[in-house]
Amino acid sequence: MAGSVIVNNPEPQVETLVNLDAIAHNVRILTEHAGDAAVMAVVKADGYNHGAAEVARAALAAGARELGVTTVSEAVALRTAGITAPILCWLNTSDADFAPAVAADVELAVSSLAHLEAVAAAARRTGRTATVSLKVDTGLNRNGVPQDEYPQVLQRLNQLIAEEAVRFRAIFSHLALADEPQHPANDMQRDRFLEFIATAKEHGLQPELVHLANSAAALTRPDLAFDMVRPGIALYGLSPVPEISDFGLRPAMTFRSRVVLVKDVAAGEGVSYGHTWIADRDTTVALIPAGYADGVPRNLSGRISVWVGGARRPNRGRICMDQLVVDLGDNAAGVREGDLAVLFGEGPEVPTAQEWAELLGTINYEIVCGPRGRVTRDYIGGGR
Ligand SMILES: *Cc1c(COP(=O)(O)O)cnc(C)c1O
Repeated sequence: MAGSVIVNNPEPQVETLVNLDAIAHNVRILTEHAGDAAVMAVVKADGYNHGAAEVARAALAAGARELGVTTVSEAVALRTAGITAPILCWLNTSDADFAPAVAADVELAVSSLAHLEAVAAAARRTGRTATVSLKVDTGLNRNGVPQDEYPQVLQRLNQLIAEEAVRFRAIFSHLALADEPQHPANDMQRDRFLEFIATAKEHGLQPELVHLANSAAALTRPDLAFDMVRPGIALYGLSPVPEISDFGLRPAMTFRSRVVLVKDVAAGEGVSYGHTWIADRDTTVALIPAGYADGVPRNLSGRISVWVGGARRPNRGRICMDQLVVDLGDNAAGVREGDLAVLFGEGPEVPTAQEWAELLGTINYEIVCGPRGRVTRDYIGGGR
């Protein structure tokens, strides 16, 4: 109808915006620290909630050589997205169907004899050779072949290589205390790792490469780089050891929304459930349509600020399932419905994921994994 208002939502209500140029920048920092070692970009858990395929492409273009994920389905999804780089996956039950991974040329980490048998069975079924790496337990005591099962695994691996059921690629392990770079456990794990490698050689097994370092080790313990480093969190621009340095990394994720409502609140009025905050003066508030269902933890109620109208505005009252309220004071900035509000992003002007982590007594990893459900995702950079 002529003259009617066309309602056109140009921006989503709540979204994460992922900066692929920041990912590329972070990969370059990691490749510098890695020296001669290759970089495997860890894109498990949908790229730490940044989007695995998009991050993988940006990381590979910036110099990462390989990709690491947790499950077979994560790995196969990257192949389906058209990614041809080497992909390793390292946490699957031994009754998982490894055939799609073998068919898609995904490298499989085995942690036990049962795993190895399952991978070999998938190789026979698909009529292809499976690429296998040994994940060895050097002291984290999660998955990884334990020392006592290791000789059996090596013997069986030798048989399967002879049968051309498997190709042996790498030996790798994971550190328990890399975020405490000088902790003796790191050296203990390195020594055990070297023993695992030596034992393989005694069995006539020579890996093509060996790798041990996550982000923290890649940035602080160059002596542990071996042939490849496996950074995850640093790729996304968050420091694995924030108390030591930010290493010049750039946070890639901005969590933002649009203001749904601006309204006046009179002195003495309570705001949000429980009236845990009562206005001590006449004020103006903005309603932000993001709550704990969207990845804004309720425990942050009254403790965070949201960047809107060119400044940080304090959250007032409880964070609800779908929304939270911020205080604009006299709203001299003229914040209006539809304006952009940043929950966290690249500091220091806007709040950061690291700040949320500190308020909650957790790590930045958990914060960026938070946005979910209604939150959509968009990208900038990366030649877009
Ligand atoms: C998650 C993971 C990494 C990456 O760890 P960050 O601390 O994020 O760098 C590396 N290796 C393995 C085996 C992992 O599970």
